Amino acid sequence: MHASPTPPSPQFDCDVFTATLDTLLDGESDAVTTARAEAHARTCRPCGQRLAAAGRYKQAMRRLGERLGASDALRDAVLGTLRGVRGSPTR
Ligand SMILES: [Zn+2]
Repeated sequence: MHASPTPPSPQFDCDVFTATLDTLLDGESDAVTTARAEAHARTCRPCGQRLAAAGRYKQAMRRLGERLGASDALRDAVLGTLRGVRGSPTR
């Protein structure tokens, strides 16, 4: 599929979006990447829905972590556990 030679700037496709999503939601991605991801989410419906769903999910987890006073390590462990269960469709 990806037979084209190395492009001058990386294409922001669904794969890149998926790879960036975690960093993006953690607020750890740079401004350019954030802008690209948001632009992609706006033009790509599945990725937009994923961003919205993942955003809500992360927010909920963060709130839960704050409430419990959880350490980052514990939060990561919880996130990792829930990530495996996450495949169910929303509707
Ligand atoms: Zn996409």
